Amino acid sequence: MTTADPTPTAPLVQVDGLKKWFPIQRGLLGRTTGHVRAVDGVSFTIQRGKTLGLVGESGCGKSTTGRTILRLIEPTAGTVRFDGRDVFGLGGSELRALRKEMQIIFQDPYSSLNPRLTVGSMMTEVLHVHHLAEGAAAEKRVGELLDTVGLSAAHARRYPHEFSGGQRQRLGIARALCVEPKFLICDEPVSALDVSIQSQVLNLLQDLQRAFGLTYLFIAHDLSVVEHISDRVAVMYLGRIVELADSDALYREPKHPYTQALLSAVPLPQPGGRPERILLKGDPPSPSAIPSGCPFHPRCPQAFEPCATVEPQLAADATGHQVRCLLYPESWPADAPAPFAFGRPTASAA
Ligand code: SF4
Repeated sequence: MTTADPTPTAPLVQVDGLKKWFPIQRGLLGRTTGHVRAVDGVSFTIQRGKTLGLVGESGCGKSTTGRTILRLIEPTAGTVRFDGRDVFGLGGSELRALRKEMQIIFQDPYSSLNPRLTVGSMMTEVLHVHHLAEGAAAEKRVGELLDTVGLSAAHARRYPHEFSGGQRQRLGIARALCVEPKFLICDEPVSALDVSIQSQVLNLLQDLQRAFGLTYLFIAHDLSVVEHISDRVAVMYLGRIVELADSDALYREPKHPYTQALLSAVPLPQPGGRPERILLKGDPPSPSAIPSGCPFHPRCPQAFEPCATVEPQLAADATGHQVRCLLYPESWPADAPAPFAFGRPTASAA
């Protein structure tokens, strides 16, 4: 186990080369015949009090990334450092203590709420287990937490089925806040809610971030959802990050053809503000059979000759905008033929 002295300027979360491969087992002996590469070398950092949006289609590995960071799923490779500690090197009581600082909010809070317990019993149980409050002090704390998320102390006497979808998501947030975490993984927390309720929950999360200095990894399949809450946005495709940039830069000038296609599908309030919708061919390939070269090439509207054979690297330009695409010289691997050998100008050289 490694312990480092975190400095105030160091990122709260540092993910480096994270992989989660699930074995494919066949036959009576359960021999491993391949792997589903759900997360395949993901790296990013999140500064304290900031939000990283993690976006991609269903099955791209974004939720698996979140759960692996928390060690709800054990990783295949890579490291995660949280506040200077090596998360994958911790065990027993140290891991339990760390889990208080890192919490998760699920898309469907109902499935994670015990239907037989009142909200008050559920939350006081969390406070007892973590030795944070007992008896009347715990009840008072539950009332305060419910108030913080826009409910009231009277709601403590109700059961989960008595709440609407938006209220249940508030309950999920209140329960996560019981242990006074520093970091919240928000796994599609508004995807199942009506649009009007979505914005209320997003506003609540932003208010809580300002009030308590929380740090978020905000997972969504829709770029429009993460636009206003994220300081930076990472776009995932088939288990890898294909673009990572400051929110403003990514929405103003998306570089990767996949990000451009996702953004073209985001409705705008006024017509004519966004270029024509980019329709991608087919569905994403299986993460157990990732295409050669650039994994996006079978669907990419801008694919050119080398895309089927040369694997682009995730690399940053001078502004720190990271992209994984052969249209940009920084993405070419050092041992690959020079881009101009393929007779197509790169985006930066054009
Ligand atoms: Fe498209 Fe080629 Fe860039 Fe991949 S490397 S995103 S296939 S242009």
